[in-house]
Amino acid sequence: MRYNAYSDYFRQRFGTRVQKLSIDAGFSCPNQATGGCTFCTNEAFSPSYLRRVDTIGGQLDEGIAFHRHRYRSAAVYLAYFQAYSNTYAPIDVLRRRYDEALRHPEVVGLVIGTRPDCVDDRVLDLLADYAKEYYVAVEYGIESCFDRTLRLVNRGHDFACTESAIRATSQRGLPVGCHLILGLPGESRDDLLAEMDILNRLPLTTLKFHQLQILKGTAMERQYRDEDFRRTLLQFSLEEYIALVCDLLERLRPDLVIERLAGEVPPRFQACPERSFRRKDGRLLRNEEIPALVEAELARRGTRQGSLYKSESQTSTI
Ligand code: SF4
Repeated sequence: MRYNAYSDYFRQRFGTRVQKLSIDAGFSCPNQATGGCTFCTNEAFSPSYLRRVDTIGGQLDEGIAFHRHRYRSAAVYLAYFQAYSNTYAPIDVLRRRYDEALRHPEVVGLVIGTRPDCVDDRVLDLLADYAKEYYVAVEYGIESCFDRTLRLVNRGHDFACTESAIRATSQRGLPVGCHLILGLPGESRDDLLAEMDILNRLPLTTLKFHQLQILKGTAMERQYRDEDFRRTLLQFSLEEYIALVCDLLERLRPDLVIERLAGEVPPRFQACPERSFRRKDGRLLRNEEIPALVEAELARRGTRQGSLYKSESQTSTI
């Protein structure tokens, strides 16, 4: 591959295929008290099996059955605490829920999705303790590196908070992941390119890109009715999006592991189907088709992840 794919990272680490199993451990999110992020409807990002099963162990069983049926190849499993903010609870509650996941015989580690303002030394020390025995990674929703954007989407924290959470996590030896939304209000293509330089300087291990999707029932769906608001959003055709992702990859540090190149939510959640990626024949593009398109575009350019990356030492000698 011309970029550092997540599947290869795990294969090297575990010697086999690794599957993250999304679970909803019943946590909430502090930002919902102030209206939440304008793009948020957490329901859209959770697999449907989560809504039918109550216990963490039961969700893991369902997830394993689902993935076995789909892929049939052997794998080890990580419990992915995905829904809402999975460090937002008293420490004994966190411990109970993480322990429940790790009691599952087929689970070899945890991936904890959370907000940068929902971790402190006690939580990170707890996770570092688990990491003595298990694979434990923390995944932060960064969404944007710009405070003006974070304010516009009512994110409820600034980028300094993100940076400090990432550094504190990495200092404890935990792999740190992040996701970034491409095309938030007011952000230009140049802003997105500049974000790669900012991320390159952070001690991150993995990165997910999601294009902005406008979902039903969100504050952004209401904003989108206003033409002035729509003008603040980048619009991408499929070809333009693939070209943008390749531009971003070329600027990224070569060792960063790319977990996802685009987001996909079920059509029933989409408020603006016209923004969905479609093939030339009109067919909706599936997320799993994107890596091949990105790979082909990088091959056409003769480039790869990091082709345009300059380390700080290289930059300072120029
Ligand atoms: S932090 Fe996550 S769960 Fe909370 S409002 Fe924002 S997107 Fe939704």
